Amino acid sequence: MSPEPSSGAGAAPRPATPPSGVGGPVLHVRGRVLLGDEQETDELWVVDGRVSLTPPRDRTPVDVVTLEGWALPGLVDLHCHIGLGPQGPVGRDTAEEQARTDRDAGTLLVRDAGSPSDTRWVDERHDLPRVLRAGRHLARPKRYLRWYGRELDAVEDLPAAVAQEAARGDGWVKVVADWIDRDLGEDADLTPLWPDPVLAEAVRVAHAAGARVTAHTFATEALPGLLAAGVDCLEHGTGLTASMIDEVARRGIPVVPTLVQVANFAGFAEQAGDRFPRYAARMRRMHARRYEHVRDLYDAGVRLLLGSDAGGTIAHGRLPDEAAEMALAGVPAADVVAAASWRAREFLGVPGLEEGAPADLVLYPTDPRRDVRVLAAPTAVVLRGRVVA
Ligand SMILES: [Zn+2]
Repeated sequence: MSPEPSSGAGAAPRPATPPSGVGGPVLHVRGRVLLGDEQETDELWVVDGRVSLTPPRDRTPVDVVTLEGWALPGLVDLHCHIGLGPQGPVGRDTAEEQARTDRDAGTLLVRDAGSPSDTRWVDERHDLPRVLRAGRHLARPKRYLRWYGRELDAVEDLPAAVAQEAARGDGWVKVVADWIDRDLGEDADLTPLWPDPVLAEAVRVAHAAGARVTAHTFATEALPGLLAAGVDCLEHGTGLTASMIDEVARRGIPVVPTLVQVANFAGFAEQAGDRFPRYAARMRRMHARRYEHVRDLYDAGVRLLLGSDAGGTIAHGRLPDEAAEMALAGVPAADVVAAASWRAREFLGVPGLEEGAPADLVLYPTDPRRDVRVLAAPTAVVLRGRVVA
């Protein structure tokens, strides 16, 4: 019998930095671990940064940290702008602080919904949340918040711009579908930014590039074009009518209602005041109906996901507030928790707490499915297997 071939130990190049979490203490999470809809367990372990549903056998448990409470997969903010401030792009220090603030509030996965900053460096930082980027918001001059988006002079440029942003992002593109058109003077109101055929071509181009498209939409008027184009997700969605809601539910298109943002609609109306009365009246109507609207979406079976819309004017770390708003709207707490955690991960294609998955989890002192307000007070935040907050 010939000797075992050399395993090559010592011959393989050592990685410059060990994979995150490797060599850290074993974490033993005890209490109630929520894995998914109707899926729970009493405990799990974190070994070398990864989830183990069985106790580690090949480790001496000298270095075991026990965490107790109600654990769930790290929260997901579907609409969060890291690298964006009220005046557009922010410096790296501010962006880092934004990401850390989100993390400390339990958000461990962000789908950025458009950012004017290059935040690719965040990927190297194992202490910061995972970010799936959408490139820059695509808008038109004077048809979105100044300094935020990439403004296209000609509407026909949208498909090419979508292709470029798809190449820069992580599988998502963000299109601003409607905004106030102030050039209409006292008739100014929310109107679509893009002709329907352009929108259809833009979504086709994104899909061909392997990216999904989400759209900022407040108004009803932009929605037929978005739905016909095959948009993959809707941000805000305040203009959805009853028949559109049925269609969105049937097609499984998620809506991110951003109630923390919609709470500002009365203020937007106030600012528009007498100059833009039609716009102001519409914003007030949508503000007044915001909880009823989200309840209508829920009742129709629309897939609801959570987004804080942090960055710009809204502070980071407010996903728990969005959860509380959604519960106030009448969405059952258990559905809010699922939407903020495993259901969002499933939609984005990122694993939750399954065997061998990266250990991104948050612990709470009580069951958030009974009262989501506890989401504002996590007792521990574990990212890539390390206790970070
Ligand atoms: Zn936004």
